[in-house]
Amino acid sequence: MNQKIKIAIDGPSGSGKSTLAKRIARELGLVYVDTGALYRAVGLYAKRAGADPSINSQIAALLPQMQLELRYTEDGQRVILNGEDVSGLIRTSDVTVYASTVSAIPSVRKFLLEIQKRMAGEGNVVMDGRDIGTVIMPDADVKLFLEASPAKRAHRRYLELLAKGEQVTEQEVLAAVMQRDKADSGREIAPAVPAEDAIFIDNSQLDEAQTLSKALEIIGEKLRRLR
Ligand code: C5P
Repeated sequence: MNQKIKIAIDGPSGSGKSTLAKRIARELGLVYVDTGALYRAVGLYAKRAGADPSINSQIAALLPQMQLELRYTEDGQRVILNGEDVSGLIRTSDVTVYASTVSAIPSVRKFLLEIQKRMAGEGNVVMDGRDIGTVIMPDADVKLFLEASPAKRAHRRYLELLAKGEQVTEQEVLAAVMQRDKADSGREIAPAVPAEDAIFIDNSQLDEAQTLSKALEIIGEKLRRLR
């Protein structure tokens, strides 16, 4: 297989991007880069600092204090914030809201651009996020845009949160999912919109294995045509 494969996966929260990206990475021997984790780490730092995530100047002032690193181990990607492994801490509902809010701040996106571009430049990656096909890897070999109905996405997220012991109702999760969709796709900078050449997969009615096989079919065909 081509030495420097780049696969971009974008889509709204709960569409199953990370599950799919992990499986593609395993199947094709690529590194899986979860870019949402970087925004989550900034969100966590802002929360700990007691900063208001919607005030640009407060967040911008924190950025020089942050040293972010992505490490790849047998268990996948670890996010290291100022020497501390925060991979688990960034997955809570409140950090999710902080992450989504700070991600609309231009200085935050600029701060995280370099690390993402570096990973993209190394090639043999599958990256997921909101602006991978449009901003981070506009030159990706394959761009997938994963979708599912809001109700389906909220249901998946609800099950995930329940499993983690969070006390939420499915109704609350649906409201949060819709709020985040609106914020992510409506923001001025790097809105979560599909690249013009993205291929859509709606997995509302597909399970994980079916989503993977559909994605692999699209990737295989695209790579054959590129050769
Ligand atoms: O993908 P995940 O849900 O972990 O992302 C958390 C938040 O980070 C998203 O709601 C989105 O606002 C932001 N994000 C982004 N661009 C990316 C990845 C994530 O704006 N490439």
